[in-house]
Amino acid sequence: MKVKLLAGGSNGDPKEHYLTSFIINDSLAVDAGSLPLVLSRSQQLLIRDVIITHSHLDHLAGLPLMLDNIFADMEISVSAYSTKETIAALHDHIFNNVIWPDFSSFCNRLGARLIFEERQALTPFRLGELEILLVPVNHTVPTCGVIVDDGQSAVAISSDTTDTEEIWRIAGQNPRLKALFMECSYPNRLERLAYLYGHLCPSLLLKQVQKVGKDVPCYAYHIKAAYLREIMTELEGLAGVVAAEPCVEYEV
Ligand SMILES: [Zn+2]
Ligand SMILES: [Zn+2]
Repeated sequence: MKVKLLAGGSNGDPKEHYLTSFIINDSLAVDAGSLPLVLSRSQQLLIRDVIITHSHLDHLAGLPLMLDNIFADMEISVSAYSTKETIAALHDHIFNNVIWPDFSSFCNRLGARLIFEERQALTPFRLGELEILLVPVNHTVPTCGVIVDDGQSAVAISSDTTDTEEIWRIAGQNPRLKALFMECSYPNRLERLAYLYGHLCPSLLLKQVQKVGKDVPCYAYHIKAAYLREIMTELEGLAGVVAAEPCVEYEV
């Protein structure tokens, strides 16, 4: 399985993480924050499925913009998967014909459109070769982390969360688990703030890694740009944990 963090949009330091999206095997996106800012139009046209973990803008801002880029040439509909609450938020607050056209209500000349696909947390579903499991995590709005499993390898992506249990328990029980992608928004000195805002700092991240209890690499992402250097230094002290490099393809 190929996993790539897209976190760009900056002309400055390429290590900075701004908006959040992951691309898996070139065609599945987990979150859509930065898709049209980082991918070429032809790469955007390869994306068939988008899982949206929650309703915050840094995780979905790229979806309406990407659809505008590719809509005329889409041969197959783009499906957006999420829980009922997040689909409702997308529809009511983004694709509401005020902020952006409702791309789910009309087709292009090839009969393709945006399809909203509600999925239940903790009920696995398949997207081609991949089995997807949405697992509720602990954030300020309804949010799910994602476990993606191709039958040989599995990865767990935390989405935005503070200290949480279920996703790490399930990930730890998966014998194919090869990597963790864990958010780390704040430095340790702001641990209380991180907890309050539903995020992690390196010390809280380490607690999550220990809950998984497996010797697999953990890639930290969603690092707030203002604290990048501070967080990177703190992560250096944690065995098995590194900051995820934007636009680097991780083969797991
Ligand atoms: Zn969030
Ligand atoms: Zn976020």
